[in-house]
Amino acid sequence: MFFMTFVVVVIGWFYPVAWWWYVLAFGTFFGSVIYGSFNINSQVFVPAVCNVPVSKNVLALTFDDGPQPDVTPRVLDILKEKNIKATFFCIGYKLEKNQAIAKRAAEEGHIIGNHSYSHSYYFDFFPKGMVRKELTKTNDLIKKITGKFPRFFRPPYGVTNFSIADAVKMEGETVIGWNIRSFDTVIKDPQRLQERILSKLAPGSILLLHDHQPALIDFLPGLLAAIEERSFEIVPLDQLIGEPAYSN
Ligand SMILES: [Zn+2]
Repeated sequence: MFFMTFVVVVIGWFYPVAWWWYVLAFGTFFGSVIYGSFNINSQVFVPAVCNVPVSKNVLALTFDDGPQPDVTPRVLDILKEKNIKATFFCIGYKLEKNQAIAKRAAEEGHIIGNHSYSHSYYFDFFPKGMVRKELTKTNDLIKKITGKFPRFFRPPYGVTNFSIADAVKMEGETVIGWNIRSFDTVIKDPQRLQERILSKLAPGSILLLHDHQPALIDFLPGLLAAIEERSFEIVPLDQLIGEPAYSN
């Protein structure tokens, strides 16, 4: 797309080119940039693992936006009771305040992933240096808490762009997306929410939930039971995608 725009601009420099060629070229270019930015599955900027092609009924459970003192420990209790290992994509500034919760999660066998430091609304407008700082600051915190350097990064809002792609490459992180977006922050009816998730269950899926809202505590046990009833097994994310969750 970039090449096409470039070609039109170069030709236009030497020869008269109809104005609509510019509209077409720039329109396609910016259209693809916007599409790539807001669709983590699009893989336009950076490869993101959103699911894996397997035939077995397995999936991985991921929780974003914690640790949350009034929610995450209860979620850990529920997972412990079921002996299920999940991944928590933690926000750096919340990790700083809730280190004991993340430590407990790691000790109980869950994976701690990086979900940026600030989770800023403007994250997708941050230049490369700022994105990298967000990554390293949170990676250092995770290393301090768990003793291990995380390799899994989930960009806030699932947005990817050139800056994020470069920063991730420099840090040697793997971008983790999802293929089952629960919309648990939007859908308030637990029945509808559960039906939505179950209708999308497929082998090799990555399910996105959020552990920053108390409704999850009542919702999660029923969901886990329903997943089990459909003969799906929840496996750790590193096992599902065949990549280590930590570099050392
Ligand atoms: Zn988030």
